[in-house]
Amino acid sequence: MAQRNGLPPITPHTLRELAFDQSIRWSSRNDDIWQAIDEDLWDLTHNPCLVLSTVPDRQLAELLRRPEFHGRVRELVERRRAEAAQPTWFAERAVDDALACVAYFSMEYMLSEALPIYSGGLGNVAGDQLKAASDLGLPVVAVGMLWQHGYFRQGIDADGRQQALYPVNDTRQLPVEPLTDLAGRPLRLAFRLPGMQLWIRGWQARVGRCRLLLLDTNEPANPPQVRLITSQLYGGDREMRLRQEIVLGIGGWRLLEAAGLTPEVCHLNDGHAAFAVLERARSYMAARGVPFEVALAATRAGNLFTTHTPVEAGFDRFPAARVSQYLGRYAEAELGIAARELLALGGAAADDPQATFNMACLAAHGSGAVNAVSRLHEATSRFIFRGLYPRWPLAEVPIGHVTNGVHLPTWLSSDAEQHWFELHGDEIPWRGGDSVVADLLARVDDHWLWQIRQHARHELLAFVCGYLARSLAVHGATAECIAAAGCGLDAERLTIGFARRFTAYKRPNLLLQDPDRLARILADRERPVQLLVAGKAHPADRAGQALLAEWQRFIARPDVGGRVVFLEDYDMRLARHLVQGVDVWINTPRRPWEASGTSGMKVLANGGLNLSQLDGWWAEAYAPDLGWAIGDGLEHDETHDARDAEQLYRLLEQEVIPEYYSRDEANLPRAWVQRIRRSMGELVQRFSADRVVREYTEQFYLPAARAYRERSADGSARAYALAGRIHRLQRHWPRLAFVRVALEPLGEGYQASVELDLGQLYADDLLVQLYADACQDWPAECLTLTARSGSGPHWLFSGSLPAGRPAAHYTARVIPAAYDGLRVPLELPLILWQP
Ligand SMILES: *Cc1c(COP(=O)(O)O)cnc(C)c1O
Repeated sequence: MAQRNGLPPITPHTLRELAFDQSIRWSSRNDDIWQAIDEDLWDLTHNPCLVLSTVPDRQLAELLRRPEFHGRVRELVERRRAEAAQPTWFAERAVDDALACVAYFSMEYMLSEALPIYSGGLGNVAGDQLKAASDLGLPVVAVGMLWQHGYFRQGIDADGRQQALYPVNDTRQLPVEPLTDLAGRPLRLAFRLPGMQLWIRGWQARVGRCRLLLLDTNEPANPPQVRLITSQLYGGDREMRLRQEIVLGIGGWRLLEAAGLTPEVCHLNDGHAAFAVLERARSYMAARGVPFEVALAATRAGNLFTTHTPVEAGFDRFPAARVSQYLGRYAEAELGIAARELLALGGAAADDPQATFNMACLAAHGSGAVNAVSRLHEATSRFIFRGLYPRWPLAEVPIGHVTNGVHLPTWLSSDAEQHWFELHGDEIPWRGGDSVVADLLARVDDHWLWQIRQHARHELLAFVCGYLARSLAVHGATAECIAAAGCGLDAERLTIGFARRFTAYKRPNLLLQDPDRLARILADRERPVQLLVAGKAHPADRAGQALLAEWQRFIARPDVGGRVVFLEDYDMRLARHLVQGVDVWINTPRRPWEASGTSGMKVLANGGLNLSQLDGWWAEAYAPDLGWAIGDGLEHDETHDARDAEQLYRLLEQEVIPEYYSRDEANLPRAWVQRIRRSMGELVQRFSADRVVREYTEQFYLPAARAYRERSADGSARAYALAGRIHRLQRHWPRLAFVRVALEPLGEGYQASVELDLGQLYADDLLVQLYADACQDWPAECLTLTARSGSGPHWLFSGSLPAGRPAAHYTARVIPAAYDGLRVPLELPLILWQP
């Protein structure tokens, strides 16, 4: 079509550009464009690239000649142009230019079903944060792997057993394009491992204003074992996993640099990519001609490590001998350190043949900050990382937290989106920091909210029937059986969703503790309930598969009457339908094993309610008027499961179900709607990825970028000073000794004096403190004394203690001073306690 008003013409190329950008899916307003091209293909795949790949340009051009279609595309292009011209949160927020690029590393990304390179929660966190970074204008470049087979796909055979399937991801049908270097050539990195050269290709996906760079070893020049490194996510043995993590961490950092990027901040989403801290240091060494310790002191200030597991067994570990075999030469030739020093960074002692190399340990040793993903998870993480900070009080183990959140536009139903737009004039109401949602909700009546729910449940049930029928057909069911799919379901009934990984700690069988009671609850004549269940068990997790089989047996019971269905192959598409349509989302993990959990957050803006264990995010979100909780806020073993189950049944029977079915003359469940109102108003913004990315930026990225710049400025002067200080303190610390500690009454309080033998150290290397643990009504307390005088190695430190607390509560200790921005104990966990 001809150019109009000086605007660039809309061509088939315009459509392809749009289809390639993940952000095209963040609003359903655009969906009719792809629907108009191929409705069936769109409905089944929601992959605009795929839809376009089936249509020649000629046909697209013809379609674009239709005024209606052309107008839709034009409108979309104009809206995106206008949005791109708006100043972003980050552009308005950034006061200096310290932060030009954040590299974000993750083993998996859940961006859309069109790019199946994810398994579950971890990928969800990475995908949703990347999207929010784009929305907020934060300059993030993500790095991940182009998994040829992704994570396994699940089938449930006629006997209720799980099948693991591995269809191929064909790059021609994925929204990715080859990554090119600055000269426009396709990137192909050569990477030496002992005895072989491996090639890594680069791809990229566009995610709004951000990019995701993907590593791929499926290159014909590689031996088959190497080609398979990027084959299966979380597949293969330990050695395969080690190879994958070398490619992700070391290859990933090289790919960034080959693409012309020099990030100040590197964010490790879990420990899988921890080798990136080594490669970042190596690259710094090469560029500035400094030794490894100095490079690490400079670069680690710019690294952030987010831990995701609440148990030590969740850390990725490798036999130290294997790591040495793969990276020994790299350590010596490239990093200029002995292999044993590299092993020590992963917490492995070189002289111990059984030693294991811990990726979380490497990540912590290579980062300037560590964070957990919920408040409770911070406490749990302090406990499991305490070994890195021996003799430090648990409360001082240097781990903070940023509770996860979800990218609302991704998880919102199109109907709910329209409702929100109607309220907020075509804009997303949760971008800013203020509590806009609660204010907006004050303007709508209960009908408005209930309509969203009614519509969503009906949509979900229609989807479920189609989905079930297709699954049945795939597994060879009879025509009658297929026709009857979902006939036990009814769109007016209370609909509960339960979908998650089938693994022991998630306790997917808690609802099945008393199967007869559950069957009675579901089949109640007056107040019937239906349950939608989904989830995969890792192919190597036998116990998880047994839990899945338990559900299959329950579903087949005649007294359940088809009111429970299992939906195979839980993925993003299925998750979206479920979280949009269910009335209640149940989660029953064993506390404190759910570090955060995110699926429950996805129901919030759609008007769903949560019934969950007080664990992860729900432990900080729950309040009695906005959802339901099980558990007593404490940790228990399996013997407590029956009690949790009892609580769960009782809540359903006495609170959830009666509240849903308690209707007024207009058939409105007033109390229920009130609860939705409170849940949305309180939680939608708090648990959004926008809030998360704002927190990461302010608490971590900006300070990290500044610290990195400071340490690397003036020929790395600060980094040299820090490396020297760390070395000196480590060397002379063993000589440090207490000579005398005295607490004498002074007025109402005490006068404290501590005499130390400093050995080779100086008084201003140290902080001398009186520390009191938290006990009974007293909080933990730490008072720093002042250096008074010294002669030779003997120094006196003194100060006064306030009245009130018994002197016996205090113990003297010495720690390194946080001089030059040194992070204590993260970078130097030395501590000496009064004997
Ligand atoms: C959101 C999501 C998850 C993560 O959910 P949890 O709350 O951690 O159970 C996993 N898989 C899929 C497909 C999801 O959409």
